[in-house]
Amino acid sequence: MAPRFLLDGMLGSLSRWLRIGGYDTEYRKDTPDDALIEEAAREKRILLTRDEVLVKRARKRGVEAIYIEKECDEKALSQLSTILGLTFDPAQARCPKCNHAVNKVAKTAVTGKVPEGTFKTVDDYWACPSCGSVYWRGSHWPRIVETLSGAGKYTA
Ligand SMILES: [Zn+2]
Repeated sequence: MAPRFLLDGMLGSLSRWLRIGGYDTEYRKDTPDDALIEEAAREKRILLTRDEVLVKRARKRGVEAIYIEKECDEKALSQLSTILGLTFDPAQARCPKCNHAVNKVAKTAVTGKVPEGTFKTVDDYWACPSCGSVYWRGSHWPRIVETLSGAGKYTA
């Protein structure tokens, strides 16, 4: 089964990358360490943090925890790819805002919800049933795919 993650407050942008890469990733801001460790244990999530003390405390309680070495998201993704053998599949992307799985929706369903120029040129849309966000593969998409596929090949 694919690993699921819990990220602490310092890793907001990494949480969005992991979601776009297809991984079930929860992100908690301003949450005490004990509550983070508890949630990771209860939901069998791997705790990711840049706090070495938190990593030690989590491991003591039997929770799998990984210290993220680099601040750069691409390097962090590479580190996870190396340690856990992760591959990132943006075709399986989850909602980067709330982590819910997104659904492909008909173009007619997003009428008025996306910029006019986008609507004219893009035919494929996805929507998040939880937060209502609508997504499409815009001009930024190739860069996202490149970053995710490149992350697996990076060596420190
Ligand atoms: Zn959402």
